Amino acid sequence: MKRLRLAMQLAVMVAAAMAGVRFALGRSVTTVETYCPFGGLETAYAFFTRQRFTCAAGETNLALFIALLGLTLVARKAFCGWVCPVGALAEWEGKLARRLFRRPDLTGAWRVPARADRMLRVVLRAAVLALVLGATWTTGELVFRGYDPYYVLFSAHGHDVRAWSYALLGGLMVLGLLLPMAWCRYLCPLGAAIWPLSAGGLLRLARDERTCTACGACDRACPQLIEVSRAGIVRSGECTLCLECTGACPTDSALELRWAGGKP
Ligand code: SF4
Ligand code: SF4
Repeated sequence: MKRLRLAMQLAVMVAAAMAGVRFALGRSVTTVETYCPFGGLETAYAFFTRQRFTCAAGETNLALFIALLGLTLVARKAFCGWVCPVGALAEWEGKLARRLFRRPDLTGAWRVPARADRMLRVVLRAAVLALVLGATWTTGELVFRGYDPYYVLFSAHGHDVRAWSYALLGGLMVLGLLLPMAWCRYLCPLGAAIWPLSAGGLLRLARDERTCTACGACDRACPQLIEVSRAGIVRSGECTLCLECTGACPTDSALELRWAGGKP
């Protein structure tokens, strides 16, 4: 599963980079933002109120966003852990930070207390989501482009990308080293939008207390800093089903995926 996930993350990343370059070279009319489900949410208001699309966002974005909602209802934030190239880069950066700062886990150089972390995840991401949607729905423009790491990274210097966009991206990358997954944890508006559905997602990790040795390896492996070893069932809306915890668990049957309501 680990290899499959890596292959999927790499494939999406290569496809996104190729889409950006092909558009920039004039070999394709499809921009990299066509494949972004967040564009579906950005254009939803205009579509459902005026039967129009916002700027370059279109039916593909809307269909992808609706498909993402379905996926999240079943597999929580699997999109973030298996598909999103920004999530993949953030995760790899977190692993690099663990080596650089010689941490036993993925907390990075700056440790945010668990309670503050939970609060910041909700408040900051909701604020970014409200700002982006408010500005997009009022102006009818995709105002988020220049700030969006996905677009800045993969659009091959696309429309609305300025020097400050790269400076902001650089700042986010430095922040990601000090505070791994900072973008995903505190700033990503798409993460905020799907979080409520993810919390109720049907596939969950369950820990078997009879076989768990309480070694904590799962906690140290989790990129989302979920305390798996203290949960009976991982209900956190942050779980991306990346399965890093099951991979790190030394006990075969202590962690397994289960449907909500399923019997052990
Ligand atoms: S709990 Fe396990 S599957 Fe969920 S995000 Fe953490 S490591 Fe990944
Ligand atoms: S890694 Fe496995 S055995 Fe160790 S605490 Fe987590 S679930 Fe229990």
